[in-house]
Amino acid sequence: MRIICLDLEGVLIPEIWIAFADAAGIPELRRTTRDEPDYDKLMNFRLELLAQHHLKLPDIQHVIGSMEPLEGAREFVRYLRERTELIILSDTFSQFAKPLMAKLNYPTLFCNTLITAIDGTITGYTLRQQNGKKHAVAALKSLNMNIFAAGDSFNDLAMIREADSGCLFRAPPSIRESQKDLVCVDSYDALLKQIDGFLTA
Ligand SMILES: [Mg+2]
Repeated sequence: MRIICLDLEGVLIPEIWIAFADAAGIPELRRTTRDEPDYDKLMNFRLELLAQHHLKLPDIQHVIGSMEPLEGAREFVRYLRERTELIILSDTFSQFAKPLMAKLNYPTLFCNTLITAIDGTITGYTLRQQNGKKHAVAALKSLNMNIFAAGDSFNDLAMIREADSGCLFRAPPSIRESQKDLVCVDSYDALLKQIDGFLTA
C-alpha cells in the first residue's frame, strides 16, 4: 500500500505565522523554520513576542479564519485522496490548523498542540514527539506501507530522507543548494508527476 505524506504550511496553506505577523504588524514574527532550523528556539521566540504584545490565541485564530489554502491546493488534495491515502505531517498546532483543514475537506493531520490558559494566553506547546515527521514515516514503513514525502523546509528533510521516495516543493534557494540530490518542484502539476511516478512504479 502506498501513502503520501505532505507538509502543510508552504505546501497546501500559507505560512500561518507570516500571515499573522503581517496582520498584527509584528515583522519579527515572520521568522519560520526556513530561517531558524531549531524549532524550540523559534517557538520560544514567538511566544515571548506574543506575550510582549499581549496577544492571545483568539487573536491568532481570528486571522487564520480569514486565510485560504494556497491556490489549487483544494483540488490537489481531492485528486490525491481519490488516488491513494494522504497524511499531512505538520509542526503546526491543532488549534491553528482547524479552520484551514475544513477548507481542505479534513485530510488526516498529525501535528502538535498549544497549551493555553483560561484567558486564551498561549503559555507553551506540546510536541507530540521529537522529530515527529520522521518517526511517523518510519512507523508507517514498519506497517509495510510505501511512503512518498514532500515538504518545503528544514524540518521536512528527515521525513523526505526516511521515505521510500520524495521531493522538495517550493523550497528556498538555501535548501535547494544544500540538498542537491533531491528533486525540487514548484507547481502542483509537477508534484503530481512525481507522485504519479511513485504510485505507478
Ligand atoms: Mg512547510
